[in-house]
Amino acid sequence: MAKPLVGFYWCASCGGCEEAVVDLAEDILKVVDAVDIRLWPVAMDFKRADVEAMPDKAFAVCFINGAIRTEEQEEMAKMLRKKAGLIVAFGACAHLGGIPGLANVANRKEVFETAYKTTRSTVNPDGKFPKTEVQLSEGIGKLTLPEFYDTVKTLDQTIDVDYYLPGCAPPPDLIMQAVTAILQGKLPPKGSVLTVDKALCETCERNKTKPDTLAIKDIKRISEVIADPEKCFLAEGIICLGPATRGGCGERCINANMPCRGCFGPTKEVKDMGAKFLSSLASIIDSNDEKEIEKVADKVIDPIGLFYMYSLPSSILRRKKGE
Ligand code: SF4
Ligand code: SF4
Repeated sequence: MAKPLVGFYWCASCGGCEEAVVDLAEDILKVVDAVDIRLWPVAMDFKRADVEAMPDKAFAVCFINGAIRTEEQEEMAKMLRKKAGLIVAFGACAHLGGIPGLANVANRKEVFETAYKTTRSTVNPDGKFPKTEVQLSEGIGKLTLPEFYDTVKTLDQTIDVDYYLPGCAPPPDLIMQAVTAILQGKLPPKGSVLTVDKALCETCERNKTKPDTLAIKDIKRISEVIADPEKCFLAEGIICLGPATRGGCGERCINANMPCRGCFGPTKEVKDMGAKFLSSLASIIDSNDEKEIEKVADKVIDPIGLFYMYSLPSSILRRKKGE
């Protein structure tokens, strides 16, 4: 019997999600045995034209990682939507915008100015910036680049998405569970995030050490202290996004004595992760004095970068005013 065709594609991402597939270790042999991988640019040589020539819905499923930042990524996502029965947003960047989505605090002009002009390591005396088209000498033709959009988008702000595999990167056990569920046709309702729908704090071992009423007088950065490996970070005054983040990751950061930064995104009932965490934080600052509260709150050096580290494009804010 013909095996189901599967594709992996990457957009604006770091490549970590591709590593996560390799991290399946010997389980990858089970995947390779059960499916026929027909697109995986990071690992194998497939041509866009070959995919374009495939009939619609030829792929049983395509896993797309990365946010959508360029014209080419948008085109590929739209093409794969047509060619695949199921689309899974794979990892935090496709799901929520991820770290590349933090670029939405700037516009394209500012991103280019920083990348090609003002960074100390840049040498660009002629002030040249990338262009979508460059005419070469006569007879040679032109070179083109895809357009770099002003705004970073999540995958579902670009195409219809069937399922979400959260995480930066998704843990191997969740990937295996998702692949097995797809192969067996045992999938939850469309639009589901393929993990538990409860807050990370509910499964975190350190929750036991959280006092009934949390109250903090100070906020400490994780780089400034040696955190007690047994105690709840928040109770120690170290920002941990566990209350606003969906569980299911196996508490990977917590087990490495690092606070959660929210890569699994919010649970179903949370509309905006950053706002939810901000409200949790506001309720635990132990003071009624405005000046004192301000002093504690000021310890958060980069609120957007911290509270929306993975989720800015999917948040209510979405971005700073455009170009
Ligand atoms: S705030 Fe962080 S450390 Fe504390 S219980 Fe929640 S996830 Fe665990
Ligand atoms: S602890 Fe938080 S940041 Fe770390 S993997 Fe889990 S959800 Fe992601």
